[in-house]
Amino acid sequence: MSVSEASVSAALATVLDPELGQDLVSLGMIERLHLDDGAVAVTVQLTTPACPMKAQIEADVVRAVSAVAGVRRVDVDFTAQVRGTPQEALPGVKHVIAVGSGKGGVGKSTVAANLAAALARDGAAVGLLDADIYGPSQAKMFSVEGKRLMADDEKRIIPIKSHGVKVISIANLVEDGQALTWRGPILHGTLTQLLQQTVWGELDYLVVDLPPGTGDVQLSLGQLVSLTGMVLVTTPQDVALLDVRRAYTMARKTHVPVLGVIENMSWYELPDGSRDLIFGEGGAKAFADKEHLPLLGQIPITRGLRESADAGVPLVVAQPDNPSAMALQQAARLLAGQVSVQALNTLPML
Ligand code: ADP
Repeated sequence: MSVSEASVSAALATVLDPELGQDLVSLGMIERLHLDDGAVAVTVQLTTPACPMKAQIEADVVRAVSAVAGVRRVDVDFTAQVRGTPQEALPGVKHVIAVGSGKGGVGKSTVAANLAAALARDGAAVGLLDADIYGPSQAKMFSVEGKRLMADDEKRIIPIKSHGVKVISIANLVEDGQALTWRGPILHGTLTQLLQQTVWGELDYLVVDLPPGTGDVQLSLGQLVSLTGMVLVTTPQDVALLDVRRAYTMARKTHVPVLGVIENMSWYELPDGSRDLIFGEGGAKAFADKEHLPLLGQIPITRGLRESADAGVPLVVAQPDNPSAMALQQAARLLAGQVSVQALNTLPML
């Protein structure tokens, strides 16, 4: 019995992208369909190479297409194309994602570094702008400390590629260890330069490591580019959550979508396998639930995470099997999923 393309397409139209909530055919995600005597090959174009739902989509496609009469075999493969709205200020960059926190020391920079490296590991084109003017640490976390930035013929800055990520830190612009006071206009000018005078090329995601709190950088960034959204990093205890709420309120007031919350330092695993909840339990989840935000991950405290940050290799690269690395890799995938959802809500052509 010969199988018609129409019947296979009809079956595919019953498969929903679990995050986007629409079917693969209407979303334009069926890139190729090949039928050969009951053997069906489907190429699904994901909206991010860091798709957290790939396995489920594959299983759902196989189930739906196998149910079509005459189909005896289904092969699914994947490509990915991040969809974004080009913006004048950053023509090649599809999404700008800010990583913020209410206060310092919660591991925001460590999380930002690993999110960027994790997205790159999954195959996305990623940039990282360290805009943490009070404690720029990305140059160290990516081993590009002290490296002079080079310019192209048009005097545009060439970012330094490290661990698959194009990195630029405000630290690369100043002498090592020099204290900086950033007055408003200088800060705005420097940020403009770093963002707009940099040869980013084509990027799926530009991750921006913000300073903690709710200051000038947050405001300037919002004026300079259109942010796809912001990720909030917090530790579980009440004081940290109080501060993260302030950051959340500012994002709301400035109309920046909050893509999710990452709880860092959630617990320390003891040698007997039990968890020491050093900073309390469940704080970020309660906050995320109350504000209807996704909790993208809970990152345990591990020696590896601290050591890899100091050694200049993001943990997801240095020790992908470390529990903190696995939680960060998964958080990056869930974040990429939220970016796709955000893009679907704002891109009319989808
Ligand atoms: P922030 O950017 O919020 O100020 P950092 O990312 O600089 O914080 O982290 C502060 C310190 O805590 C760094 O030394 C970092 O290596 C360490 N750190 C952050 N998260 C963890 C974790 N989950 N486990 C172990 N060390 C961590």
